[in-house]
Order: sequence, then structure tokens, then C-alpha cells
Amino acid sequence: MKPKRYYIETYGCEMNKSDSVDIALTFQARGYEESASGDDADVVVLNTCSVREHAAERIIGRLGYYRSTNRKREGELLVVLAGCMAQEQGRRVMELFPEIKVVTGTYHGLRIAEAVQQYGETGNPVVLLDREHYDFSSFRGQRAQGHSAWVNIIVGCSNFCSYCIVPHLRGPERSKPSHEVIEEVRQLAERGVVQVTLLGQNVNAYGKDSGDMGFVELLTQINEIEGIKWIRFLTSHPRDFDEEIVRLLAGLEKVCRHIHLPLQSGSDRILKLMNRQYDTHHFCSMVDAIRTHMPDASITTDLIVGFPTEKEEDFRMTLDLVRRVWFDDAFTYRYSARPFTEALRLEDTVDRETAGHRLDELIEVQRGLSLQKNRQEIGKTVVALVEGQSKKNVREMLCRTGQNRMVVVCTDEPAGGFLNIQIEEVSGNTLRGVELGKAGHSYITDAACFAGSGMASEESGRT
Ligand code: SAM
Ligand code: SF4
Repeated sequence: MKPKRYYIETYGCEMNKSDSVDIALTFQARGYEESASGDDADVVVLNTCSVREHAAERIIGRLGYYRSTNRKREGELLVVLAGCMAQEQGRRVMELFPEIKVVTGTYHGLRIAEAVQQYGETGNPVVLLDREHYDFSSFRGQRAQGHSAWVNIIVGCSNFCSYCIVPHLRGPERSKPSHEVIEEVRQLAERGVVQVTLLGQNVNAYGKDSGDMGFVELLTQINEIEGIKWIRFLTSHPRDFDEEIVRLLAGLEKVCRHIHLPLQSGSDRILKLMNRQYDTHHFCSMVDAIRTHMPDASITTDLIVGFPTEKEEDFRMTLDLVRRVWFDDAFTYRYSARPFTEALRLEDTVDRETAGHRLDELIEVQRGLSLQKNRQEIGKTVVALVEGQSKKNVREMLCRTGQNRMVVVCTDEPAGGFLNIQIEEVSGNTLRGVELGKAGHSYITDAACFAGSGMASEESGRT
């Protein structure tokens, strides 16, 4: 009998992408094969996002698409709604789209394959939305994605920023036991993984809920694991970041010189209303600490415009701070009102058009700043990890620097290798360079290499 085939569409953050790795492994453990597209799969999983309304609208569009696919295939396709949007409104969406036979929220992704089987046996749709118990995945080395891997170290969020739906859908912070994280990274290294990205909504809170070791201690132990060359992490909360952390991180040679530190707004009044629990003074002192102790680090951020009550002067403060800090790059978003959140109570909302103009202006400013930073790279020699083939030219490989910049280079070096690259030109967010040879060590940069990254966002802008 031909094995059944699954296909996963993932929306939203790295956390969701990481969860999808586990979902795929649970299907493979039951003998399923991955399908190249949803059109000829037996099961399509939509691992959804709900952080902004726009994300949810896109998913409704995809469900419409799979409705017609399912009709063409005479009802053979089974659709699973998983992740944040499922947690938020899974039952309602299931009523609108009866081809959804399984709904799992943010606590039960690991049970999707089992739920699909249960549906196959009983013919009864399965809904798993309770939040009483959460199991971390026990997949370890198998989670490798080529030479890189995501490693969830803490799930949920206890911060309740007033605009954010995440704590309402993913529950409070829960740290994965350190011995499990370390064993996972060890097994990944045994399978040839050289770069790990530690994930959490607030990685600096690691261990606080469980009394386990703290974040820096965890990084120190991972830094010792043979075979691992580069360690990245996402996301740091400015409130829980201090100079001592930066100083200690600077002493760990495998920790990549890239800090993603979401500012959200340059107005202290707005930051307070957002319940971010830091002010711009603290944020700037963290930027100073990074530039003092890790002078070659790139700093990227997240920014929201059009938060309720935001006046032109608040927005100007954001622009001023963005220029002053000179972020290497920024993900920029138009505020989106989300269910359950405190910000919904604020009455003085910013109209869509004004928020749109502010977003455009912010994107324009940041784009200019990112370009200038990228141009400063021209002529420098950087160390970069070869990640894969460029889509445009098979002779070209896409590489990532320790500062999270993408570099295109012509090379025979396969994915997983480290190269010294001389940067020759910049086009948009991507640098182009020539290979100078293999990088003989795992260090983040050559002494010559300083600064910057590459990223960004319609409801959101990518610079
Ligand atoms: N935990 C991370 C932190 O606090 O920085 C970020 C997680 S969140 C999934 C990613 C980004 O989405 C946030 O930093 C914020 O800029 C943006 N975001 C979250 N809720 C939003 C909303 N309601 N409207 C617009 N942007 C939002
Ligand atoms: Fe959302 Fe704030 Fe938690 Fe980040 S820290 S996930 S923005 S509540």
C-alpha cells in the first residue's frame, strides 16, 4: 500500500516553524511521507498565526483554496487547523470549513498525527484545545534541518504586552529542562548541525519559572558542545536584558554577534501604555552596553506604529530613536487590534490611513539606514555559513554572517561550510562577495568585520 502523505503550511514566527518540525516528525513516525504540495497530500496541516489580523485573513484564504481542492478530489483531503489561530477561534472556523476534521491549539501540536488517525478510525472530528498539560517534544537529533536547527528553550509568555495576543494563546512561560536542551543540542551536533537558534518569546526569562539555570548559564553550557560552531537566540526582552548579560555573552565565542531587541516605540508614554516595562533610557543603555562589549554585533528590532493614542509627536520620537540607534534592520508593523488584549480598551485609536502613512515613512527611513550599514560592509572580509543554493543561480550559494546578514557568493563549498568572503557590492538587503577560501575556525567574524544584519515587513514592512 502506498504510504499516506502530509503537507504542512506554516505561518508566523520562528516558534511556529520550529513546532512544524515536530509535527512533521510525528507524521513520519506513523509512516507518512512528506508531500511536495498540499494539492496531492492526504493531510494538510495549517500551522497558523494570530498575532495580527492580517495573518488570520490569509489563513481563511488558504482554507478557501483547500475547500475547492477537496471538492475536486471528492472529499479525500483532510485539513488540520493547528497553532495560534486554531487556539483562538478553531471551533468557529471549523463550522465555516467542514473539511477541517482536526483542530489542535498551541498545546497539542504533537498529537496531530494521532488525532488524524483517530478521525480515520471513528469518523468523528477531533478538537484538542484544552490547556491543562503541555509536553515538550522528545525529538532531539531528528530535529536537524540540514546543518542548522531551532531549539525551543522556553514556550509561552507571561509579559502581557497590552497589544499582544500571544500570552492569551500560548499560556505562561514554561522552560524546557536544561538537561533536555543540552542533550538535544548534543544529538544535533552528532548529526552534523553546526548552527543552533535557541527560541522563546523572551529567552532572557529562561529558568525563572522552573528554578533551573538561567539563560546565560545555559548558553555557557551549549557553548562547550563540540561540533556546534554558532549559537543564535530569539527573542530578547529589553526589560530582562542588562549590561552583565551582554558582558557574559561577549565572552562566549560561539554566540553570534546579532542581538534582536524589540523596541516597539520611541515614546515613553506609548511604551507605558504597551506595558513593555522599560523606557527609552533603559533601551538606549542596553544598546550602549552591546556596542561597548560586542562592538561587532548587529542590532535589529521590532516596531509598531499606530498604537491607540499615538500622536504625531510620539511617532516622531520613534523615528528619532530609530535614527539615533541606527538599527541594522527592523521588522515594522501597523498596530492590529487583537481579541483578549488590554489595548482594546483604549478609545483614542489611530485611523488606518494615518497609521499606513507612518508605517511607510518608518520603512523608508529604516531602509535608508540599513542600506548605509550594508554599504559599510563593502571591502570587508566576513566569515559566513553556507546555508544553501541561491534560487536564481545554481552556481551561487546563500550564506549567513554571524551578524545575520545574507551574502551571495559563487563557490563549490557545500551547505554547512564556513567561508571567508570579501564583500564587493550590496543590492537591497543582500550582500554579494567573493570567496577567499574556507574559514579555518568557527569564529563569528574576522577582526576586520564589523556591524549589521538583514531582515524586516503591508500590515508590516520589511526594510
Ligand atoms: N516576544 C517577542 C517580543 O516581545 O519582542 C515578540 C513576539 S511577537 C510574535 C513579534 C512582534 O509582533 C512583536 O515584537 C510586535 O512588534 C509585533 N506584534 C505583536 N502584536 C502585535 C499587534 N497586535 N499589532 C501589531 N504588531 C504586533
Ligand atoms: Fe507578546 Fe510581549 Fe510576550 Fe513578546 S513579550 S510575546 S510582544 S506579550
